[in-house]
Amino acid sequence: MSISPCSPPGQHASSSPSPRPKKPPLIWDHFEALPSTAQQGKCKACRMNVSCKYNTGNFVRHLQLAHKDIYRQYQNKIGSQWTR
Ligand SMILES: [Zn+2]
Repeated sequence: MSISPCSPPGQHASSSPSPRPKKPPLIWDHFEALPSTAQQGKCKACRMNVSCKYNTGNFVRHLQLAHKDIYRQYQNKIGSQWTR
């Protein structure tokens, strides 16, 4: 919030590192990783192969377009994970 453009030197500049969860993204609950290629996942709902290329955004978009109910559940799950 507070912006300090000229922070005095000498003070310890240790910003608290945010812990990174090791769990895979929740979107993988709805997709299976294909053993043949790491850049595709198979939708569990319609068995369609969706390209991800190290980015799960396409998975989310597929749910959004093709499976609105599942997408809503996924959004709820994400929301309940981040907001307590
Ligand atoms: Zn699907």
